[in-house]
Amino acid sequence: MRHVTDEPNSEADVVVVGAGLAGLTATRELKEAGWSVRLLEARERVGGRLKGYSLGDGKAVDLGGEYYGDKSTMIAETARSVGVSGFDTYDQGERLTYLNGRRYGYTGLFPWRMGPAAIADLGQAVLKIERLARTVPPDGPWNAPNAERLDNQTFWSWMQHNLATGTARAFLTMVTEAAYCASPADLSLMHVLYYANASGGFRYLLEISGGIQRYRFDGGAHSIPQKLAAKLPDEVRLGAVVRRIEQRGDSVVASGPGFSVRARWAVVAVPITLAGRIAYEPALPGYRDQLTQRMPAGAAMKCLAVYDEPFWRSAGLSGQITSTDGPFRVAFDTSPADGSPGVMSAFVTGSAARKLTRLTQTERRTAVLDALARALGPRAGKPRDFVEQNWLDEEFTRGCYHGFAPPGLYTTYGQALRAPIGRIHWAGTETGVHQMGSMGGAVDSGRRVARELFARAAIERKDEPGGEAGEPGAPGGAADPVAGPVNHG
Ligand SMILES: Cc1cc2nc3c(=O)[nH]c(=O)nc-3n(C[C@H](O)[C@H](O)[C@H](O)COP(=O)(O)OP(=O)(O)OC[C@H]3O[C@@H](n4cnc5c(N)ncnc54)[C@H](O)[C@@H]3O)c2cc1C
Repeated sequence: MRHVTDEPNSEADVVVVGAGLAGLTATRELKEAGWSVRLLEARERVGGRLKGYSLGDGKAVDLGGEYYGDKSTMIAETARSVGVSGFDTYDQGERLTYLNGRRYGYTGLFPWRMGPAAIADLGQAVLKIERLARTVPPDGPWNAPNAERLDNQTFWSWMQHNLATGTARAFLTMVTEAAYCASPADLSLMHVLYYANASGGFRYLLEISGGIQRYRFDGGAHSIPQKLAAKLPDEVRLGAVVRRIEQRGDSVVASGPGFSVRARWAVVAVPITLAGRIAYEPALPGYRDQLTQRMPAGAAMKCLAVYDEPFWRSAGLSGQITSTDGPFRVAFDTSPADGSPGVMSAFVTGSAARKLTRLTQTERRTAVLDALARALGPRAGKPRDFVEQNWLDEEFTRGCYHGFAPPGLYTTYGQALRAPIGRIHWAGTETGVHQMGSMGGAVDSGRRVARELFARAAIERKDEPGGEAGEPGAPGGAADPVAGPVNHG
């Protein structure tokens, strides 16, 4: 892989901004079809929201995205294509939950001991969510029947009307914060349903075995973008912070400090909030800017505690800990496949992340380790290594797992998510259809954007004097149907 300073000025058919899974997938598809591509990445590494941490002995764990399930077909295909295989997430033994200060041990999805009224209440609510989620089409949630009703309320308001017990509300709030990295009051009901349906179902989203957390990747999910990038040595340019994208007649120029790339088309594959922070010339239409103004990233930090062995397993515990209060909403056993060393990953999400991000690193470490020790015993308070990844602080991510929608967004500006503007096309997991928000959504968006460009190129070739419809996938000719004033359609 090369650094942008090796070749500060260059030209290509397409310039792609952001070497996460979405940008890498688009680049691979375009390259395979014979296009020239420059993939500009701000960081000195690829992978974006996929990042690894070395445990020594050639083993590594994930500080970012990690899990997938049987319905995660696209990320599984991508992994297979670069020789990365998966293994079962550890899911044996008792789970623990701390609900309003009380500790419950349980197996299955819900802690049955929280009481029959709360369990029945939770069960009916999950069924309702599941049913509603199926009415929200992942390729256009704004087309759902009752779209306005679903989009004009927060998940919090829905919970007030549809749950009778405080215990069930507290449990569902915790689950929401763990899965969406936002509080129910932040989220449009439609976003909750959309993400659930795109993922494979609401229950599926929460489950380990039989759910979206069923598998992990050997060597870590972060090894997938690394392997994709290794096959794109001439395309990837590290250290390239794109600050400006100019559309000029039949070309587009992406530039940043000390570099500039001219291309026929641009693909922007950065988190949606950050796409709004790039300067565009001419300025983007208001509806697109209003979209990026309104789509914040969730709040999450991931903390890893490393032990000589996963000692909780011999005590009959699965390592899954959930909590309505305290520093994390959920923690999992994320030891390597052979169980050595023992690793616990704590997900500090939603309201917990907002609180903890203001503490010092030492205070955060103490809070997380105290909570692990409360659940797993004093040994958990003394790891041999501890690392925290605060995704809020990352300049080129600014939160995770994905950008979410507050009420009223999808039904007003949602259609701007994927609509190209002139020569600029949009990728990134937030624009995915299959498993939007997850690794699969990023792959899906990279494939879709490549198809969009193949189709445009075919049209341009047809429009050339004496031209014929081009082969889908062939790089475009000289003529440009959107040359001149930028087509904001
Ligand atoms: C803690 C955490 C846990 C998660 N858990 C899971 C999980 O278990 N399963 C799952 O499927 N998904 C999970 N996800 C979500 C998943 O990681 C993301 O959906 C996916 O990786 C996003 O890929 P992307 O390419 O769309 O965006 P990104 O990975 O964010 O890539 C965007 C790239 O653009 C670069 N960039 C930003 N601005 C600029 C600029 N101005 N110029 C140039 N480059 C720029 C960034 O550096 C980055 O490399 C998790 C994410 C996190 C952070």
